Amino acid sequence: MTRKVSILGATGSIGQNTIDLIGRAPDEYDVVALTGAGNIAQLAKDAMALKADVAVTAHDHLLDDLRDALRGSEVQAAAGAAALVESATRPADWIMSAIVGAAGLAPGLAALEQGTTLALANKESLVCAGELVLRTAKTHGTAILPVDSEHSAIFQALIGEDMGSVERIIITASGGAFRDWPIEKLAEATLDQASSHPNWDMGQRITIDSASMFNKAMEVIETHEFFGVGPEQIEALVHPQSMIHALVGFIDGALMAHVGPPDMRHAIGFALHHPERKALPVERLDLAAIGQFEFRAPDEIRWPALRLAREVMEAGGMMGAVFNAAKETALDGFIAGQIKFTQMADVVEDTMSHMAALDRHIAATMTLDNVLQVDHLARKAAQAAIAKRAG
Ligand code: NDP
Ligand code: MG
Repeated sequence: MTRKVSILGATGSIGQNTIDLIGRAPDEYDVVALTGAGNIAQLAKDAMALKADVAVTAHDHLLDDLRDALRGSEVQAAAGAAALVESATRPADWIMSAIVGAAGLAPGLAALEQGTTLALANKESLVCAGELVLRTAKTHGTAILPVDSEHSAIFQALIGEDMGSVERIIITASGGAFRDWPIEKLAEATLDQASSHPNWDMGQRITIDSASMFNKAMEVIETHEFFGVGPEQIEALVHPQSMIHALVGFIDGALMAHVGPPDMRHAIGFALHHPERKALPVERLDLAAIGQFEFRAPDEIRWPALRLAREVMEAGGMMGAVFNAAKETALDGFIAGQIKFTQMADVVEDTMSHMAALDRHIAATMTLDNVLQVDHLARKAAQAAIAKRAG
């Protein structure tokens, strides 16, 4: 029997890895919707090759380009935010949520409302609105399978275990591009330098977030939200080889580690085939040839994002939405050359302090509208913090 699948963010790094796996067994899948944003050529090519029902671009002004690119095929074209959400409501058995940024929240929630399985790569939706995402999944009886490699690793280590036996969760970080740089040089790091990752091949935004550790900070919050463990139970550990993805520590002192090559097709494939395990086209590790794994404590002077993540978890409420919006805006500012690499953390910290004073927003009940409103206010505050610094 074929399974109906949709991929939100199909043209990105996670989306393309998902298509790689699906494309290897085309008879097993019936592709419903593929979505993208600016990369119309890739979106149209994949939608036609996989015979999707609909291809959607997030950008209204690209609808004609998408129609042109799909001409002669039976794939429907659609564009805009409402069309993205509509595509996520089309009946499917499995949906991949791999849009980058808070833009993934609304389509992800629409997919959850279907009650079918959601493979969740879009970590921003858990950071911004973890309580809302989990509540929506519970209300509609939807299973969420984490796709972030660390969270997939934790999920796998917890199979058959009782959460009451979990003492701590350790997520590893490669340390990104600037792991070994002298701290005083970090302020001068260029966009090109921040955009190259020592181990993983990922989208540009998450690669820069790895260099600043904002990615790990997001993942610490994601762990707290998804697995319901306290901030004091979560540790980040620098592990330059990126082969141990996470470890779960139990009350009897045992640590269960998940080890695998740095290839997202493992976590995507695990979520695609769950609850079965199927063969995947990933490298088999030769541990004797690798020789050794290294570990280091993360340095919070080098990576202030980790301290900010703890502050977000302590504040609770909508502070995750503030943190994510400020981080996305600061990242835009760095990409645009308005602020230095090290100023991204300053912008996020200023925005969190500014927004903490707006208590009625932070403590508001979590709905999609409230989260989007806080997101909007935090982006404005972050832009002001950037303008103050931009030379
Ligand atoms: P990419 O930047 O490679 O891809 C992002 C996708 O989102 C593309 O399809 C892009 O379209 C689309 N997109 C961009 N902006 C918008 C928007 N405003 N509205 C709707 N769609 C949009 O990102 P990644 O694949 O690296 O990451 C996707 C998600 O997965 C992120 O949340 C990331 O944190 C998470 N993740 C990624 C990992 C990785 O290895 N890459 C690992 C773990 C988690 P287009 O390209 O056509 O413009
Ligand atoms: Mg990760």
